[in-house]
Amino acid sequence: LEYSRKTVLEHGFVHLFSTNVSPGQGDLAVVRSARVSFDADWRTGTDEGSDEKLIHYMMRNHHTSPFESVVFTFEVKAPVFTFRQWHRHRTWSFSELSARYAPLKEDYYIPAIGKYGVQSKSNKQARNLDTIADDEAHRDRRWQEEQDEVMRLAFQTYRRHLEQGMPRELARIVLPVATYSRMFATVDLHNLMHFVRLRFDAHAQWEIQQYAKAIVELITPFVPITMKYFKETLS
Ligand SMILES: Cc1cc2nc3c(=O)[nH]c(=O)nc-3n(C[C@H](O)[C@H](O)[C@H](O)COP(=O)(O)OP(=O)(O)OC[C@H]3O[C@@H](n4cnc5c(N)ncnc54)[C@H](O)[C@@H]3O)c2cc1C
Repeated sequence: LEYSRKTVLEHGFVHLFSTNVSPGQGDLAVVRSARVSFDADWRTGTDEGSDEKLIHYMMRNHHTSPFESVVFTFEVKAPVFTFRQWHRHRTWSFSELSARYAPLKEDYYIPAIGKYGVQSKSNKQARNLDTIADDEAHRDRRWQEEQDEVMRLAFQTYRRHLEQGMPRELARIVLPVATYSRMFATVDLHNLMHFVRLRFDAHAQWEIQQYAKAIVELITPFVPITMKYFKETLS
């Protein structure tokens, strides 16, 4: 099923490929799953106030299993360094393109001017992206050019080695982690919210934050009430 797709970074995207619920119906799947636990009747959307209260209650009290009844599959294109972070989330199922099967296109991520920032002094792993002065824009442009040069050289070498008959699985090892990759990624709503909580957070790398944000935008029409109360729980 084709739902919708959001561009992320310059060449990346998240595409909501499929889900087991229709737009606006995902919250109902959650409350039906919850009501089974106290053997109550299924209320088929006729008692919206009570459905909403139940979702709010479950969100506040970490009654998480009913949220697992809704499942999403995304097609994602992102730099390899973002996939490295994403793949740490073991509750997702992934299927990624293999550069052993097919050669990779010359497609890589270079941060935009203003998105380099400086190394944060208060957080050892983060960067500080506060507004930049003119000379910093100049510096960012130079960093872009230098990173671009390295990437182009890596891809030139990669292509030359492929032409010379080097096996694909070894030719690829010179490609840096800024190279874009693609995957299908499946997760249930509970573990998706866990992912978003960690990766939407200011402590996460800016690039993966953009993917987490796109995911929230894509799924909200399917589970609007759940997302309303989930957003309240984000710091
Ligand atoms: C800002 C940030 C910085 C990070 N920095 C680093 C880093 O420097 N180095 C690094 O290696 N990683 C780093 N990580 C990755 C982090 O350690 C987690 O691996 C990742 O966020 C996945 O979280 P998770 O295990 O909760 O999610 P999932 O793997 O989706 O698991 C969800 C939940 O299931 C349960 N669970 C899953 N597997 C197990 C298991 N085997 N045993 C017990 N319970 C389990 C846990 O309750 C877990 O919270 C970082 C993550 C963030 C958000």
